[in-house]
Amino acid sequence: MKIESGHIVILGAGESGVGAAVLAKKMGWTVFVSDFGSINEKFKAAIIHLGVKWEEGMHTMEELLKADLVVKSPGIPNTAVPVKALKEAGIKVVSEIEFAGFYNEAKTICITGSNGKTTTAMLTYHILKNAGLNVGLAGNVGKSFAKQVAEKTFDWYVLELSSFQLDDMYEFKADIAMLMNITPDHLDRYEYKMENYARSKMRIIQNQTAEDWFIYNYDDPIIKQQIESRTPPKAAAKIIHARQAPFSLKEEIEVGGYLEKKQLTININKQFTMSIHDLALKGKHNAQNSLASGIASRILEIRKESVRESLGDFVNVEHRLEFVAKVHGIEFINDSKATNINSTWFALESMDKPTVWIVGGVDKGNDYSELTKLVDEKVKSIVCLGKDNSKIIEAFSGCNIEIYEAGSAMEAVAYGYRLAKKDETVLLSPACASFDLFENYEERGNEFKKAVRLL
Ligand code: ADP
Repeated sequence: MKIESGHIVILGAGESGVGAAVLAKKMGWTVFVSDFGSINEKFKAAIIHLGVKWEEGMHTMEELLKADLVVKSPGIPNTAVPVKALKEAGIKVVSEIEFAGFYNEAKTICITGSNGKTTTAMLTYHILKNAGLNVGLAGNVGKSFAKQVAEKTFDWYVLELSSFQLDDMYEFKADIAMLMNITPDHLDRYEYKMENYARSKMRIIQNQTAEDWFIYNYDDPIIKQQIESRTPPKAAAKIIHARQAPFSLKEEIEVGGYLEKKQLTININKQFTMSIHDLALKGKHNAQNSLASGIASRILEIRKESVRESLGDFVNVEHRLEFVAKVHGIEFINDSKATNINSTWFALESMDKPTVWIVGGVDKGNDYSELTKLVDEKVKSIVCLGKDNSKIIEAFSGCNIEIYEAGSAMEAVAYGYRLAKKDETVLLSPACASFDLFENYEERGNEFKKAVRLL
């Protein structure tokens, strides 16, 4: 799209905001960066080096209203007072991805979903890179998209997109869109309405044409419903134009991919098959992630041997069902990134030994009843790791297992070590955010790992 440069205001001076400032300056915009909090030293240095105007600890409305265009960090909700005022003044507010999209000439593979975004983005990037493609990785993961558009000349980008980013995207189009799943998360930002959140995720396919592809989870009931409402004769919302390549763990798929008898099959540009035993990533959820990445790679006609090799040697990102150590025959697994029920469901589902389950933190409106069946089957004791564990204790009090409470990762690991026997597992998969006891999920995972290593 052609866009005239003018005066741009960037709200939020993090990775995406500073990246947007770099691109805007290069493209001839005058730039003002405004952050309500204090700006991290690294980003402050980058803004000063860039020589643009900035402020921290406030939003000066008078300055903000001078904007021709506003780029907003995904962390700032649309209900925030300055954002509302800007919109009321008729000023366009977009995400950094949308802004970078105005100037991006590379093709894009865009990945969203409630869970599995980072894993699938990294895996897809790994396959493309190993196959020799000139590819970049951006969005929620890695370096800012805008900064890379300003400084690099990739042919392809793999972009991880959250619903918050999608909410502020209007003209952007994915060449290949991937939707992993839609399960309850972040509902506080969507008026506690699942339909609003689902519609936000479906923006991943907006503006797609018949030339483009849409890869999605065929087994997900909410996605199915959303697709039906965009398909004649039911089409209520805009219909889907892209070619569809779904994946399923339950049904054979003609154009797309599926899992059957422990084998992945991908029917795109001839048939590709691979045993799940040869996949680097274990567990059903990761079979979905491998299928989605594999489908995208075959759409790009990457050689089967190359796809097979990359699906087999990928090393997963930290804190996602990460094996930590075996201590006296007890296996410790760190799944600190599991911050909602669905991700923990898959973690428990993939446990094949009696498990001491460490759970808890800040509850985002969890319905724990979805886990009771798995807890009955797989869990021998529960260790709560949160400030307020009452909801968890109540939810599982009928499961006939012991429930303990720990106030630190060290204490939780000590419980795990005491309660598990040889050939059993201690799993940290909290189903909750971490902010009550930890800075973030990384710190929670790191403290868990540190405690295990001290055993
Ligand atoms: P996201 O970027 O969407 O948060 P991650 O890849 O970081 O996703 O994984 C977050 C959590 O979800 C981890 O606990 C991981 O084991 C789990 N997970 C990964 N892929 C899936 C999937 N396809 N479905 C459900 N849970 C998943």
